[in-house]
Amino acid sequence: MKEIILIKNGELALKGLNRNSFEDKLIKNMKQRINVLGEFEFSKSQSTIMVDPVNEDIDLDDAVDMLSKVFGIAALSRACVCEKELGAIQQTACDYLEEQLEEAKTFKVEAKRSDKKFPLKSPEICREVGGYILSRFHNLKVDVHNPDVVVTVEVREKYAFVRGNNIKGAGGMPTGTSGRAGILISGGIDSPVAAYMMAKRGVELCAVHFASPPYTSELAEMKVLELLRRVAKYSGVITTFVVPFTKLQEAIRDLCPEEYFTIIMRRIMMMISERIAKEQNCSALITGESVGQVASQTMYALACTDCAVNMPVFRPCIGMDKEEIIAISRKIDTFETSIQPYEDCCTVFTPKHPKTRPQIDDVLKAEAKIENLDELIEDAISTARKVIIR
Ligand code: ATP
Ligand code: MG
Repeated sequence: MKEIILIKNGELALKGLNRNSFEDKLIKNMKQRINVLGEFEFSKSQSTIMVDPVNEDIDLDDAVDMLSKVFGIAALSRACVCEKELGAIQQTACDYLEEQLEEAKTFKVEAKRSDKKFPLKSPEICREVGGYILSRFHNLKVDVHNPDVVVTVEVREKYAFVRGNNIKGAGGMPTGTSGRAGILISGGIDSPVAAYMMAKRGVELCAVHFASPPYTSELAEMKVLELLRRVAKYSGVITTFVVPFTKLQEAIRDLCPEEYFTIIMRRIMMMISERIAKEQNCSALITGESVGQVASQTMYALACTDCAVNMPVFRPCIGMDKEEIIAISRKIDTFETSIQPYEDCCTVFTPKHPKTRPQIDDVLKAEAKIENLDELIEDAISTARKVIIR
């Protein structure tokens, strides 16, 4: 039995004239994701993209799993290719969907006929195929409103396709169709979720992580790279920069008033990330911040962080409760990695009484104590390590 995968576009259908370039981008993203499994041919027709494995030994379960994480896909399904002949279609529906049909109590048949020369019209196909299925599976009844299994028959140009229930796609828009942004990634729960949420809206990711050895361990850094690998299953390739942050944190500790440690640290993270992001053709930064979560995430503190850069800063978790963020991190399988207990540089030299309502003038004055800030920043950027995550 020859099998293929059928892809239904999501929001793409709404994009009018851009639709073609969106679809091409989606196909490119799908190719990039599943080419590790073998060679596939892609073709478009109407609002469906067909993914056809060239070699017989390709594991379609793996392909479907990978494709179910590609943004821009509303639904996908495996389909069996068969001859355009009623007998063949009936036989294929029963054999190919045997397991699903045996377990189900109710079903219905839907038919689409893009080849208008096919002798039966869609309602007739439904009736003939439905009748045949009923004669073979005595456990089944027809339910047109809420069936356990929808058997879909599509009669196309060369062949007919038979498929069972759809699998839900990842939704969103194809990565890369909304430009590029730099995610400040920590080892926590929030920033991988923020990365996922922006990638879902079509944003290609580049990542910046600050490491402060020996205060933070190599394991902490490996954890962050593992988190990014998990996000990359959705977002595709993430060019990542690991920036040495120890000297800057020590300078803050030695020279600035303690109550401003965190806010200054966050501002410097933003400045460095902006520089890297610009070099990487990014037009925005992303963080995992949420209003009020910690002292550095009050509205006043966020205002002080924001004005360290001249780029939009997107914070998709901004209005979410921790529980809501955790639900997404479980869904995208980053939670278990995030809760591994390694120190982040944010927890090094934390002030006992951080300012929750910092005034920007006071922050700037405190920050100016680091006289060689530009030099330290330059140094950090030039010694950053680049890692390509896929
Ligand atoms: P998260 O779960 O994302 O770590 P958090 O609640 O721990 O969030 P903070 O540690 O205050 O929050 O960090 C806020 C945001 O700052 C993070 O979401 C992330 O975008 C960024 N950030 C924090 N630490 C780092 C780091 N070491 N490298 C890069 N970005 C960081
Ligand atoms: Mg954190």
